[in-house]
Amino acid sequence: MYPNTQLYINGQWKDALDHTTLDVINPADETTIGTVAKASVADLDLALEAAAQGFDVWKNTPASKRSKIMQKAAQNLRERADAIAKIMTLEQGKPLAQAKAETLGAADTIDWFAGEALRAYGRIVPPRAIDVQSLVVKSPVGVVAAFTPWNFPLNQVVRKLSAALAAGCSIIIKGPEDTPASPAQLIQAFHDAGVPKGVINLVYGVPSEISEYLIPHPTVKKISFTGSTPVGKQLASLAGLHMKKVTMELGGHAPVLIFKDADLDTAAKEIVAAKFRNAGQVCIAPTRFIIAREVYEQFTQNLVDQVKQLKVANGLEEGTDIGPMIHARGFKNIQRLIEDAITKGAKLCFGGKALDGKGFFMQPTILKDVPLEADCMSNEPFGPLILCIPFDHYEEAIQEANRLPYGLAAYAYSESNKTCMALGRDIQAGMLTINYIGLSVPELPFGGVNDSGYGSEGGSEAIEAYLNTHLVTIAGR
Ligand code: NAD
Repeated sequence: MYPNTQLYINGQWKDALDHTTLDVINPADETTIGTVAKASVADLDLALEAAAQGFDVWKNTPASKRSKIMQKAAQNLRERADAIAKIMTLEQGKPLAQAKAETLGAADTIDWFAGEALRAYGRIVPPRAIDVQSLVVKSPVGVVAAFTPWNFPLNQVVRKLSAALAAGCSIIIKGPEDTPASPAQLIQAFHDAGVPKGVINLVYGVPSEISEYLIPHPTVKKISFTGSTPVGKQLASLAGLHMKKVTMELGGHAPVLIFKDADLDTAAKEIVAAKFRNAGQVCIAPTRFIIAREVYEQFTQNLVDQVKQLKVANGLEEGTDIGPMIHARGFKNIQRLIEDAITKGAKLCFGGKALDGKGFFMQPTILKDVPLEADCMSNEPFGPLILCIPFDHYEEAIQEANRLPYGLAAYAYSESNKTCMALGRDIQAGMLTINYIGLSVPELPFGGVNDSGYGSEGGSEAIEAYLNTHLVTIAGR
């Protein structure tokens, strides 16, 4: 039922030239379920050559045709969503319903960018002399190298892939080795839709070896990375050294501000669902709950009441809310963070333990009165952990919300229009959602500021990152 994954180069699925593979583990029971081909430099050279040829074809394909092929890929994905979701749950662990929603969401993203392909307009600037015309022309940047993580195996690929294809670029994707088979299904959907050979290439291997080879390579003109801040900084500096365009979507530590006039029941329901999606392994996961002291006890209790209802189990089981974490590293890290916080004085309101037996299952956990010295208050937990602290004044809440170098997502609940407007000015984050969970849809910008990276993977800004702007100014004499 779980397919082995090959490399996709120049329109063909193939083993690595040296036939090496990596094992793929099911995080729900720690068994080896399959393999993924491990590319060497010789495979990367083939991918680079194919992508260069693919770019020549794709940039000369009219936008309307590119758009139609993309729409067909989206349709293929929708028709295959059930099968793809099962593969994703087996390799990644997330509940089946979330895996299916991700697959259908990926189809929507492709469709949206297929529309953007038709709107990559330039402009004509009024001239200084009557016989002059000045054209601002947009053209695709060229071959893209994209590096995507395991937490949303499809969605992390599809944002980069769709924007690149809409702009007329070809792409080499370094997919996630932990979860290789569902992204391969995404690429198959594009293959079956008629994307010309070489336009899309998918490789797996040792991430640092691949990035160190592809980023400086003269064929590659644009880098896009999603992952942790330390790795993002390394890759951005390498890209800078070679003057490559870069989009960096990195870590976060999202604050959640709960004001005393918030609708506490709605807030608790919505925010708990957002927090424990994908076992909390989400860069925009709500993490630091900064709660008005007047409602602190009541709201933490509301959170506990919600979290009690969540079922932690194999993602293939009916009714599962939280599946296993992806790997032993993340699983051990979250246990260490909880232990460290409790040692430093945090109070455990709920959870705190790993489940017995095989698999990387962690209880959803709520800590309150967490001291700032606790590691989890500054380092991204990337797991099912809520941290609660009280505040007395608006300024104090803002100061805590903006305390960290991260600036990805932020959440707030308040019934006061004045407070909501002020938050829009005061919170330093790439994305702020107030009184509902409204992030991560293709038509809205998606990206961070400060240590959370730069560039956007949504909205009209997303395609801009794959376009060069040229001036052509002509005197008509
Ligand atoms: P990690 O830093 O080892 O890997 C994160 C991702 O970066 C993986 O996909 C990995 O393949 C890739 N990567 C690592 N080194 C690389 C390199 N030198 N070149 C190219 N790609 C490289 O971390 P992990 O243990 O797998 O995940 C935990 C941390 O990663 C989290 O704390 C979180 O900050 C971050 N992360 C963020 C996102 C996100 O959506 N922004 C997604 C997954 C992981």
